Amino acid sequence: MLDRSVLVLNKSWTPIAITTVKRGFSLVFQDHAHIVHPETYEMHTFESWLVDNSLSTRDQLPPGQVWLRTTNLMIRIPEVIVLGRYNGVPRRELAFNRRNIYRRDAFQCQYCGNKPGLKYLSIDHVIPVSKGGVTNWENCVVACVRCNTRKGNRTPEQANMPLRTEPGKPNWNDGVGFGERAPSSWDRFVKS
Ligand SMILES: [Zn+2]
Repeated sequence: MLDRSVLVLNKSWTPIAITTVKRGFSLVFQDHAHIVHPETYEMHTFESWLVDNSLSTRDQLPPGQVWLRTTNLMIRIPEVIVLGRYNGVPRRELAFNRRNIYRRDAFQCQYCGNKPGLKYLSIDHVIPVSKGGVTNWENCVVACVRCNTRKGNRTPEQANMPLRTEPGKPNWNDGVGFGERAPSSWDRFVKS
């Protein structure tokens, strides 16, 4: 229960991270954050959250909500918290690696357009390393083994194998990954 996800908003209510209920409670306890009521948007301290959002263990729980059982209380699990001071938007730099190149190119050969499966795919240097090509987002693409072999040590122009798309750094980042299991209450904060 304490491992469930909590959406973290910065001071200006921009979603910046996802944390666990445990860590979320800890930020609220330390006065670094308030709990946001997912329906009314009211901001709560831990104490004021308890006033509105706790029940005796004998009470009937409202459907569709998640509650945490303590010794003598049921506490509604927070889904969104807002930070008191922090107003930045942390961006974790997207890692340049094979996995993300495959992801960017959707496992599709950038020369012939085939999707032969991971086993038959490789990473091609658009301008070959031997001709001064570097290893970065702009010069690495997914190529099927056949195209990679055919292209050999040539540029796309020399091999007459034009690229399907201009390679570049993807515009998604790793900072906030909103999973498919995100509570629906997050929609109001995440979509804008
Ligand atoms: Zn190919």
